[in-house]
Amino acid sequence: RIKDRGRGSYGFYQPQMNANLLSRMKLEHSMRQALGLDRMAVHYQPQVNLETGRITGAEALLRWRDPDLGAVSPAVFIPLAEECGYIVALGAWVMEQAIRQCAGWVELGHPMVVSVNVSALEFRQPDFIDRLTALLATYRLPAHWLELELTESILLQDAHESEQRLRLLGDLGVRLAIDDFGTGYSNLGYLKKLPIQKLKVDQSFVRGLPEDEGDRAIVGAVISMGHALRIEVVAEGVETLAQKELLQQMGCDQFQGFLCAPGLTPEDLGELVLNPELVQQRIQG
Ligand code: C2E
Ligand code: MG
Ligand code: MG
Ligand code: MG
Repeated sequence: RIKDRGRGSYGFYQPQMNANLLSRMKLEHSMRQALGLDRMAVHYQPQVNLETGRITGAEALLRWRDPDLGAVSPAVFIPLAEECGYIVALGAWVMEQAIRQCAGWVELGHPMVVSVNVSALEFRQPDFIDRLTALLATYRLPAHWLELELTESILLQDAHESEQRLRLLGDLGVRLAIDDFGTGYSNLGYLKKLPIQKLKVDQSFVRGLPEDEGDRAIVGAVISMGHALRIEVVAEGVETLAQKELLQQMGCDQFQGFLCAPGLTPEDLGELVLNPELVQQRIQG
């Protein structure tokens, strides 16, 4: 826990001050400098409609390339940013990039829903909704092109407060998606009472498709439940044609995964969107 430790209190750890803690401190230091040094970027991973084969949206994924460390995985630095509170600044930056980019695509005539991951700490900031509203106004982006990806854990902490906030966001017209669906421990009751538009089936359930019976059962159940509640279902982490074909048969609405593309620069995604035959080649084998 780096979060609550004051300056000068490192001495406490002296005897065991290990390489681990030291490298975490170095990593945090480099991370806090990275934005200002132009070492971070937002990439966009396409989401493909399984009925039409068209790209209908993209998820904003933060990338960090450090001259010494190389590409640092978000799986490493996002949890660190969450622990030390820096995620609030980082998330605000990603949000502005994504909204600006999304508004640009709308203007260019190939609009897409852009999804942005929102950590619990960001979501709990008292000015989160006001800042979001201001950004949408600044870039003149109609709210329905923006989607927020939240995890079930957000609904567990301060359930009442979170519910109110989700309703306000729904009223604003922003789309709400539940990320990594199936890996949390929440009471599913929120699905019928909150304005959720999308469930993202976690890639841990997609990985075993098409063979694994348990994964097939879980993914099938999520699709049925989602549709009964008029909620779209997206499968994450689709890497093979066989996975895509099964998901298509099961009536899943969209997929995201390396089969189509990893996170791309805005230029590369724009190019893919303008050339649907390239997408077809990749997703039809
Ligand atoms: P996530 O939101 O569940 O994002 C999906 C992750 O799966 C991404 O990893 C993506 O690159 C990866 N992925 C996509 N397709 C495939 C596939 O076919 N196979 C495999 N094996 N992986 C695939 P990434 O970019 O490393 O991000 C990891 C996590 O970091 C994200 O998980 C998200 O929770 C977090 N993250 C990334 N960017 C942001 C951000 O801007 N803000 C916040 N708060 N979190 C972020
Ligand atoms: Mg996500
Ligand atoms: Mg996910
Ligand atoms: Mg994930």
